Amino acid sequence: MTLIFQKDLGTLIPPSALVFPPHTGRPALVLRHLTQPSSLKDLIESLGVPHCEIGTVFSLISGLELPLDARTVASDVLAVAGADPRSLASPRFLCDGHLGKLALLLRVMGFDTAWDDSWSEPGMARRGINEKRTVLTRSRSLLKRASMDNAMLIRSGVADLQAAEVLRRFLLVSQVRLFGRCSKCNGRLREVAKADVAARIPPRTAKWLDTYYLCRECDHLFWEGTHVTALRQRVARILSQCAATDHSDEP
Ligand SMILES: [Zn+2]
Repeated sequence: MTLIFQKDLGTLIPPSALVFPPHTGRPALVLRHLTQPSSLKDLIESLGVPHCEIGTVFSLISGLELPLDARTVASDVLAVAGADPRSLASPRFLCDGHLGKLALLLRVMGFDTAWDDSWSEPGMARRGINEKRTVLTRSRSLLKRASMDNAMLIRSGVADLQAAEVLRRFLLVSQVRLFGRCSKCNGRLREVAKADVAARIPPRTAKWLDTYYLCRECDHLFWEGTHVTALRQRVARILSQCAATDHSDEP
């Protein structure tokens, strides 16, 4: 069987499995000798591509799109495309234990984001399903679980680039809102009158700031201090990263 992977998916496949070496600009081509039929899902995941990252699979022999549970045919030639960006009706995320910085950034940008520090893949899979959250992880073994349909493989090891990946994949750029969620506990923030929290404001801050927010869950008090200026600039860079990547995908 011959498989041709879209460029982005090719980066997930071990170089030893590719016909042409990576970074040569040639297609990510895989030849597989099938000793017995299996599902397309199992075959493609055995090459390192989790099923949540697969968009469409076309047979270039029959001209038909194939479902992931279709059985493999030794003589077939398949074109495998990556998952398309899609919007979420109600964005809710669950980050794995390695993605604490990403979780914090997504909260800062106003998205409901839980962080699972149990380091248990079965536990995380269950929690994602039970809480109807999109699982964000760098663990391909977690994503190979059959239940991991509402999930995404995070490619980058850098939090800001990871956030840009999530915003692009789920079309969230226009939904970014600073001071929507508590960065510490994920609770919703509400604006409060300065007079109601006056006793908790450092005197030097109270002199020049009038806008304050309280977390509805942990009661932490936030205000737009100088660190927020840096944060706004950081989020602006993440958004410009999304725009730059979008542009690079244009024909
Ligand atoms: Zn909180």
